[in-house]
Amino acid sequence: MEEHQVLKTRVCIIGSGPAAHTAAIYAARAELQPILFEGWMANDIAPGGQLTTTSDVENFPGFPQGILGLELMDNCRNQSLRFGTRIFTDTVTKVDFSTHPFKIFSDATTVIADSVIVATGAVAKRLKFCGSGDGDVGFWNKGISACAVCDGAAPIFRNKPLAVIGGGDSAMEEANFLTKYGSQVYIIHRRDTFRASKIMQSRAMNNPKIQVLWNSAVVEAYAEDQKRVLGGLKVKNMESGEVSDLKVSGLFFAIGHEPATKFLDGQLELDSDGYVVTKPGTTLTSVHGVFAAGDVQDKKYRQAITAAGTGCMAALDAEHYLQEIGSQVGESD
Ligand SMILES: Cc1cc2nc3c(=O)[nH]c(=O)nc-3n(C[C@H](O)[C@H](O)[C@H](O)COP(=O)(O)OP(=O)(O)OC[C@H]3O[C@@H](n4cnc5c(N)ncnc54)[C@H](O)[C@@H]3O)c2cc1C
Repeated sequence: MEEHQVLKTRVCIIGSGPAAHTAAIYAARAELQPILFEGWMANDIAPGGQLTTTSDVENFPGFPQGILGLELMDNCRNQSLRFGTRIFTDTVTKVDFSTHPFKIFSDATTVIADSVIVATGAVAKRLKFCGSGDGDVGFWNKGISACAVCDGAAPIFRNKPLAVIGGGDSAMEEANFLTKYGSQVYIIHRRDTFRASKIMQSRAMNNPKIQVLWNSAVVEAYAEDQKRVLGGLKVKNMESGEVSDLKVSGLFFAIGHEPATKFLDGQLELDSDGYVVTKPGTTLTSVHGVFAAGDVQDKKYRQAITAAGTGCMAALDAEHYLQEIGSQVGESD
């Protein structure tokens, strides 16, 4: 059995998406010798974060032809390593922010850190039904997505009927957004009323391209003509039990996200949905010296570029904090 190691650093970064790696690149270049925990299938997501679950990323600047999500995240990781970030493929199970320096624990390692950047992201919730999975068994990334802003403009969705599952503000927003591309957008909702705010509901209901299927749930996704892309859905009416056919080329889950904050065990202020609360315009959290970046603190924009932007901010905020407390080179190494 491997021995448990104890390491010291000036900045410990938890996470491995665009926010964590941007923070690592900035912190490493500022000679803060960061330690980064990239997780091991934390929340069922591979190191590299949510972009490892998608194919082409078309909206990250600098890649005019697009880039595969996995490739983008491999590049980010290599850039972090190039400037001296020490990366551990461990999931952080516990933190102690009650005293300074802070302590961060994984099964194999304890890190004692002068500052911490939490960039553990969020997970888009997905429904499971026949045909909803990855690989050969389903149409995930082949017509089924959890991000309309990311994928809606893809050619496979242009001028085709599309569907959104959900009943909250995100579902209304995604449906409205998709009407720019799709010929028609169905909102499939399992109840007879929406949870969304009145204004968002009326925007969706007044959009002539949107039609709502109330009391309905998708039970199967299928292809047409032996193609490997989504061709339609079997939709069950929850009241009558009747199953009908809905020809769509795209299905978007808009049923919420879950921020990865359980391991914090109440040591940072969270909002009612579990997101880390940051001081507006900064990455400062409720604990002086602990910063948060990316989707773990952002339930509005949720994009790779905004995550990277706040990752940069977190590294700069941490650097200023360390200057403020007078943390010296080598002090914690
Ligand atoms: C299917 C899909 C497609 C998308 N497409 C695009 C797109 O085309 N363009 C775009 O801009 N955005 C896209 N997004 C959104 C984008 O992926 C996210 O906004 C972005 O990845 C958020 O980055 P993040 O750094 O906050 O964290 P995440 O990418 O969420 O990564 C966080 C990482 O931290 C790890 N982690 C969690 N808990 C721990 C722990 N306790 N210890 C250690 N590690 C931990 C997780 O396993 C994960 O790997 C897409 C999202 C999805 C789901």
